[in-house]
Amino acid sequence: MKYYSTRNQHNSYSLSEAVAKGLASDGGLFVSDHLPHFDQNDFSQIDLLSNFAYKILKPFFHGDPLEEKLQSICDKTFSFSIPLKFFTDNKGILELYHGPTAAFKDVGARFLANTMENLLDPGDFKTILVATSGDTGSAVASAFHQNKNFKVVILFPLGKVSKRQEHLLSCYGDNVTSIAVEGSFDDCQRMVKETFLNNKISQSLRLSSANSINIGRLLPQCVYYAKASVDYLKQTGRSPSFIVPTGNLGNALAAVLVKEMGFGINKIVFSNNKNAVMENFFNKKRYEARKSVATIANAMDVGAPSNMERLLYYFPNFKDLFNFSLAHTADDEMIRRTIIDVYTQYKLEICPHTATAFQSLEQVDNDNCIVVATAHAAKFSDVVEPLLKKKVHIPESLQELLAKKSSFLKLQANTSQLEKYLFDILSF
Ligand SMILES: *Cc1c(COP(=O)(O)O)cnc(C)c1O
Repeated sequence: MKYYSTRNQHNSYSLSEAVAKGLASDGGLFVSDHLPHFDQNDFSQIDLLSNFAYKILKPFFHGDPLEEKLQSICDKTFSFSIPLKFFTDNKGILELYHGPTAAFKDVGARFLANTMENLLDPGDFKTILVATSGDTGSAVASAFHQNKNFKVVILFPLGKVSKRQEHLLSCYGDNVTSIAVEGSFDDCQRMVKETFLNNKISQSLRLSSANSINIGRLLPQCVYYAKASVDYLKQTGRSPSFIVPTGNLGNALAAVLVKEMGFGINKIVFSNNKNAVMENFFNKKRYEARKSVATIANAMDVGAPSNMERLLYYFPNFKDLFNFSLAHTADDEMIRRTIIDVYTQYKLEICPHTATAFQSLEQVDNDNCIVVATAHAAKFSDVVEPLLKKKVHIPESLQELLAKKSSFLKLQANTSQLEKYLFDILSF
């Protein structure tokens, strides 16, 4: 399989190159030159998630040196469960939060880390520099933790992530350094971008990014949509619709690709928080980036979804996309009410992001559907507990992390300070 930039179909790249580069040099995002097509029945006998992953991802690795590593990459990545649980006869919840940091980003971050490890030459090292609005940072820290070939530096906006997110971001230590920036998430992102553009730093520290536009994070997310649609069909005899909490569109795009690859998926619903990018896009039939606003579903506070460029690449003619998808928006008030309602009605504890998807249930008149749960409620206890007037159950893996000490440095939102600092701490 070959890969192109969304902005230029003349130069092709291998998968290894696309993963190592992250973003194409022309600023575009990497896409595969075609999508494989599957018969869903060929998957119905595969129970183990890692074997399922191998089968669906194999065509994407075809012809690449990484192909022979794929089984072991899948085994290491998909070592936790991703259960589909039915809360009514025909409505399921796909729990993507059983990984080490209790959010779906564990899947992509672990797959990327395991892939990048295989791309290193002997004696080589990389510095992973990421900005996070909450969940990416901990997932990336966890995925690369104690891997001696990588150093990880995480920037997060001070006071703008949940208390538990902050702890999980800054409890790893060893090869992971966390930096709280006195500014916004946009400041963090700008500082990362500017540092990457500084050739001297970028080369001497062998900077690399692990953000959600990397194709190595997108591809593994296809696995759980394919598996869930196969399992749903087995259980109900029908194909499900998926309702996906959406920010940068990485997760929802994976669902769209799985449908395109031939798996039985009916509709796909993009659920936004108050950053109503998708609803606006659907109403106006034209995409407009906007300034992001802060909400209680902070991992979705995105006004210019980076994966939009990939979505538009696959659907230059919007009509085909609009034929099978819907967009819906939930503001903070609706999110709060939904967290209470879903607990009252189904005894499910959900996080604010997942609540945007549950809120969209009313909009879908098709009853056969799967609500995608992107994080565990315990990660957002500061929002959820006052609403439910009870303590939220904390999964064991999270308890262990919460028991660790956490520490982070503080920096002003100033790139030259960050660069000076990087030189000081990162002496390999
Ligand atoms: C990152 C994140 C999202 C948004 O996912 P995208 O791929 O950016 O659309 C939703 N929910 C949670 C909990 C997240 O961490």
